[in-house]
Amino acid sequence: MQKIKLKSKHEAATGTTAFYFEKPADFTYTAGQFAELTLIDPPETDAEGNTRAYSIASAPYEADLCFTTRMRNTAFKRVLDSLPLGAEVWLDGPFGNFLMPSNPNTLAVFLIGGIGITPVRSMILQATHDQRPNQTFLFYSNRTPADAAFLEELRDASHKNPFLTFVPTMTNVGDTVPWNGKTGYISAQLLLEYLPKPDLATYYLCGPAAMVTAMHKLLTDMGIYNENIHTEEFSGY
Ligand SMILES: Cc1cc2nc3c(=O)[nH]c(=O)nc-3n(C[C@H](O)[C@H](O)[C@H](O)COP(=O)(O)OP(=O)(O)OC[C@H]3O[C@@H](n4cnc5c(N)ncnc54)[C@H](O)[C@@H]3O)c2cc1C
Repeated sequence: MQKIKLKSKHEAATGTTAFYFEKPADFTYTAGQFAELTLIDPPETDAEGNTRAYSIASAPYEADLCFTTRMRNTAFKRVLDSLPLGAEVWLDGPFGNFLMPSNPNTLAVFLIGGIGITPVRSMILQATHDQRPNQTFLFYSNRTPADAAFLEELRDASHKNPFLTFVPTMTNVGDTVPWNGKTGYISAQLLLEYLPKPDLATYYLCGPAAMVTAMHKLLTDMGIYNENIHTEEFSGY
């Protein structure tokens, strides 16, 4: 465990804050991993305690450590949000093996909803930076574009990375929100539009349990084998 210092924060999407911490010189991780953050002497706490797991949203090549979360009204998040710049928290990790495939020929397909994008931002930006040759599809579902963290960065990555196809879809745009892209939930029909042979892919599901469960069912209903599905569940939502 070591202490890390808050450098800056900004709104990454509606009600969603990205926190940037100084990365210790000896801290190394692989894109997709998570860490545990522990508040130091917080003015309030609750039954869940002072520690939460957060995927590392920054890519390893980036200078800072970024953690991004939906800002609900819980003791942990109230304290995190009120930390002044320069304040410290404990960092433990990295943990987890939700990682890009090691085989460069593996077709990687991400089915992601909402805040589940955090480890995927790290994986996609690192893969783009390293020019990894894995053919990759990122299906990213949100209610509206304003709710979609890192939308522009991911779009930008798809312009730079010839192996990446980015398919954002919005479930609640109606007539009032400007949006030219796909609408509705991630469905078998949407997947088949892009993946002529879905059984040849390795799938990555990440986010709150309900999202991961729904996407897992979608895939098993399509006949995808369990061993080709990797999941990272965000407990606590
Ligand atoms: C490997 C891993 C990676 C993760 N990565 C991320 C990440 O990158 N970003 C991220 O945001 N989270 C991530 N999480 C989840 C994160 O650790 C927290 O659990 C989550 O942010 C919720 O914390 P909290 O303080 O809001 O709620 P907690 O205090 O942990 O809430 C506990 C329970 O209280 C209830 N609850 C609390 N507040 C509300 C509310 N306002 N409305 C309804 N019910 C409520 C919920 O039922 C919840 O299950 C990750 C979890 C894991 C295990």
